[in-house]
Parts: sequence; structure tokens; C-alpha cells
Amino acid sequence: MNERQRATASVRPRGCVFRGDLWRGGAAEPEPNSVVIIDRAGEIAAVGPAAELPVPADLPSYGGEGSWLGPGLVDAHVHLAFGRLEEMLSGGVVAVRDLGSPLQAGLRWLAAPRGPAVVVAGPILTAAGGYPTNSWGADGFGASVTSPEQAREVVTDLSRAGIQLIKIALEPAVGQPVPSAAITRAVVDAAHEAGIEVVAHALSVEMVERAVAAGVDELAHTPVERLPQPLIDKIAAAGTTVVSTLHALVAYPESAVRENADALVRAGVPIAYGTDFGNEGTRTGAEPRELALLARAGLGMRGAVLAATSRAAGLAGLSRVAGLGSISVASPAYCVVLPTDPFLDPQAWRTPLASAAKGTVWSMNETDNPGVFAPAASTPRGRQQSEDALQQGGGPAVSWASGPMPADGEGLAQANLASSRRDLSAAMIVLLASLPLGALMGLVWERVAPKAHWMVQGGGAVLGELEQSDFIAADGWFAVLGAVVGLLCGTLAFVLFRRRTRFLPIGLAVGGILGSLVAWQLGRALGPGPIDSHRGTPDGSTFDGPLDLRADGVLLSWPIAALLAVLVLTAIFDRE
Ligand SMILES: [Zn+2]
Repeated sequence: MNERQRATASVRPRGCVFRGDLWRGGAAEPEPNSVVIIDRAGEIAAVGPAAELPVPADLPSYGGEGSWLGPGLVDAHVHLAFGRLEEMLSGGVVAVRDLGSPLQAGLRWLAAPRGPAVVVAGPILTAAGGYPTNSWGADGFGASVTSPEQAREVVTDLSRAGIQLIKIALEPAVGQPVPSAAITRAVVDAAHEAGIEVVAHALSVEMVERAVAAGVDELAHTPVERLPQPLIDKIAAAGTTVVSTLHALVAYPESAVRENADALVRAGVPIAYGTDFGNEGTRTGAEPRELALLARAGLGMRGAVLAATSRAAGLAGLSRVAGLGSISVASPAYCVVLPTDPFLDPQAWRTPLASAAKGTVWSMNETDNPGVFAPAASTPRGRQQSEDALQQGGGPAVSWASGPMPADGEGLAQANLASSRRDLSAAMIVLLASLPLGALMGLVWERVAPKAHWMVQGGGAVLGELEQSDFIAADGWFAVLGAVVGLLCGTLAFVLFRRRTRFLPIGLAVGGILGSLVAWQLGRALGPGPIDSHRGTPDGSTFDGPLDLRADGVLLSWPIAALLAVLVLTAIFDRE
């Protein structure tokens, strides 16, 4: 039976048609003006030239002349807890692999009836108190492995629970404990015995050595520390695949990810596309910036797209999803219609006209075909709701694709709460520390600022001649001291609480104003006392007046300097 016959024979009602210039993936050459017919079950029923393939007239059709049609992107490194699964499909991504989430959240995504294909690693294996359980992954994102025997049990339990690969974290930054070589080895062995593969988070030379020696199947990131050539050769010889995540890591301090990616590509190490979605600076859907970095690392744009299609489709867990990474008849459809050729305009990946995955089709256009999945009109507030919305369908696609990214699952809500508390306590510490600093500043101000000389005249005190300028000097000293203390506060706050900056500006601003008020009042109180007390002394006698401010605006020099310091340091050291 040829494809044409197959089309008429097997297309059931309410399937759909993708039209455009076709690339089937892999080594295939472009085929202009083609159609892909997807049947009701989401399987590709027929592929061929539009002029030759008969298409049932009642099928909804997406794309047309000038459109482009090919396999959708596969993101091999995401953290769905920080976004919304269903937005992946509208962003051109037909399959995702979650590398770190609470077990229950992971199992729920696996059970989702619609949306992109999902593969999950579940919680990240790490040392007790190790990364990421002391930062973003505090609540359920990590599972500790404390001995080779116990590690084997953890792996076996996770595998039985239904996760499809194991992720282990070897992250010693800022003194965090990491699993030993023996434990890492035990994790890999137990996983392989259970028939699943292991991906390691390892960014430094030492940790990459440990991961490769233990026999991990993949590295979850391009390492950040420059890898020596012998280690790169070792990775190549071991057949380890590296998931790119270049865009998420290029701006790390002293990041050598570009150099490492170049060297890995030169050594023939397979590189697959992954964005580390959920990390700072990432966004839902296809990421043309990641493709561009891969292309520049020596793959070229075609190699970059292959890294995000056939290559990623062959990775741990993802290889079990039939149909990913290419378009072929009788396979489940995991493809997209784009408004234009993404090899000419990579931005096109982000704005598909329609995407097919997991037996469903997402489309830009509202459609009355109930077999075609259309997204909900309202912005769902929680995951359960959004899944319901997915099942019910209906409503325009645009509103679905927009809107905020709500947190996902109870574990994440708790993690968010905990991180909010940490952010809030950082701001509180800064605020409270400003008060004694203000007192110190008041003392210094009282010592250094000149005091106006008053003269007793006719029973009252008047300002001595030419002494007005002393008040201005007092203001000036206050402003300068405030700026110095502010810069100090801002710098210290940035160094100490760099990752807890959410409420830091408020702590600095309020602390700065309160600290200034303390300094002002203290400096004034330390002065020689009220002028009134000098009444009655003989005319012509002089005395130093108390310190005071004429321009209240100088109270702001501290908070302004503090905020400026944080702003400048953030611009220098923290990208985006
Ligand atoms: Zn990650």
C-alpha cells in the first residue's frame, strides 16, 4: 500500500492536515509544498506532495504556502515545576524531560492526558544537605544518598515508582556536600540494573571526572569550568552525551561553557539540546538563543536543530517515546507547522501555527473540530485546573499562551513560601542592621561636622556672622557620610544576600531612611543643648550651637547610595 492509498484508507474523521514546505528530520532533504495527514488517534497517516496526495475535504488544515512543516523541538532539560507544561506545545516544544522535581509532581505530569510528551527524573539524588536541597530545591526536589547501599535502595524505589531516568547532583559550590565516588558508582550501577539511565549535574573538572568514572550516561549541562583535553577525550571515549544548556550558563562567573562546547563538538561528543527551563533567564517554549549558541559551537544551524530533534529524541527516557524527532508514516505525530522556514528565521520556532504531540493537536486558531485540541480561554490558576481546561478544550489560543506562570504543585508552593521567607528575612536583617549603623554615623557626624557659633544678644541667641555656611557644611557632611554608609550597606547586602534579592531593595531603602533618622537625631542630641539655655548670659558671649539639618533631602543620600550600589553590582556580576 503506498502512502496515497494509505491516506484515503486510514484517515479517520476529525484528524487534521499540516501543510507547508516539509522537512522530515534527520538527513532528509526539504520537500516543498507538502502535506502531513494526522489521523484522529494522533498518528501520521500519510505524507506527500500537496499536489498528489488526496486530502479529505472535511479535515481542518493548518499552514499552507510559505509555511514550514517539520518535527517539533525536544527539550532534554527542563524544570516544569517553574512553568506550565501546556505552554510548551504552543511554544513549539513537543516533548520535555524534567530533570528535577518532587516525585508526586513528576508522576502527575506523566499522567497528563494531553500536551507535550513528558519524561521525568523525579527528585535529584544528592548528598544529605547537598545541592539543590539548600537552595531552590528545598522541598522535595532532592533525595539524599548517604551510602552505596542506601543509594541503591533509593534508585530502586524511584524506578519502581515510575520515573524514567535518574539525575544525580555533583555540585560542591559554596561548600555543599556531594555524593562520594563510591555512592555515584552505586547509583549508576543500580540504575542500569533497573534498566534506566543516569544523567549527572557536574559543572567542574573534578565532578565531571567523578561522573564519567562512575559511568553516567549523560551530563545534564555543558560544564562551566574549562575542561582539559584529556578529560574531553575521556567523555568522547565513554560515549557520554552532553545536554547543552548553554544559554542558561554562558553568563555564569568565569563560565567556559562556550569553549567547552567547542571542544566537545570537535571531539565528536554528542550534544543534545536542553535549556534548563526554570533557571534564571529561561522561558517557556523553543529557545532560538540556545540553537544559535549550539550552531556557533561548531554544529551549524542544521546540527543545532538535529541536536533538538533526532539527537534529543534518542536520550535517556525520551528514546521510549515513539515518533519524536522525525516525521514518518504510522508513527505518532510530534510535529509543528511554523509560519516560515526556521532555518532562515529561528524565531519561527516560538510561534507555531499548530503543534501535534501525544495524540493531540494544539492550534493557533480556534476550531470547531472536537477531535482537535484547542486550549482554554481563561488563564488557569493551578495545575489541576489547567489540566481540566486542557481536557475540555475550547477558547482562543492566544489568551492561553499569555499570562503569568503560576507555581506548580504543593511542593513548589511550599518551596516558594520558604524562599519568600528567606528573602524577607534577608531584607529584615539589612533593615535592622541599619539602625546601629545610623547611630555610629550620628556619632561620626557630630565629631566631624562644624557647629555654628551663636552669640548672645539682647537676652536671646543669634547666629554669629558668616556662620550660616556651617549649617550648609553640616548638611554636606551628613550627605557624604550617608552616601559612604549607603554604599557600604548596598555592597555588603549584595555580597551576603546575592540570591535572596527579592525584598532586599525595600530593606535597604527603609533601613537607610531609618538609619539616617537615627544619625540625625543622635548627632543633634549630642550637641551642646538648646539655645534657650544660654539666655541670660552676658551679651556678646558666644557658644557652639547644636547640630541640625537644613535640607531634609540629605536624609535620602544613604538609601539612594545603597540602592545604587546594588544596582551597579547586579549589572556587573549578575546577568539578566
Ligand atoms: Zn536543571
